[in-house]
Amino acid sequence: MDDHIKKLEDSLEEFYVTLKHLTKECVSLQNELERLRRENKWLREQLPARKGEEIVVKEGQDALARLYYEGFHVCHLQYGNLRSEGDCLFCISLLKKQ
Ligand SMILES: [Zn+2]
Repeated sequence: MDDHIKKLEDSLEEFYVTLKHLTKECVSLQNELERLRRENKWLREQLPARKGEEIVVKEGQDALARLYYEGFHVCHLQYGNLRSEGDCLFCISLLKKQ
């Protein structure tokens, strides 16, 4: 009987570990999805306007500032990477310079 209980406990523990692992994976996939959505949205916005729509030509700085506020680095160090830790001093100084 004790043996059965021990086995059951082991299984539950294993199950719990797996569940924790899956939960972690799920969070990282959600983050990745969110990042891809933002990237996709931004990329779509860079596409030329469709026929019949007014084509808006953006100044270089506007595009960079926009990219930055969309959450991406525009500095040389990490250009195009997602800003996962808030503001980037390098990006800001670059945007101010222009
Ligand atoms: Zn940066």
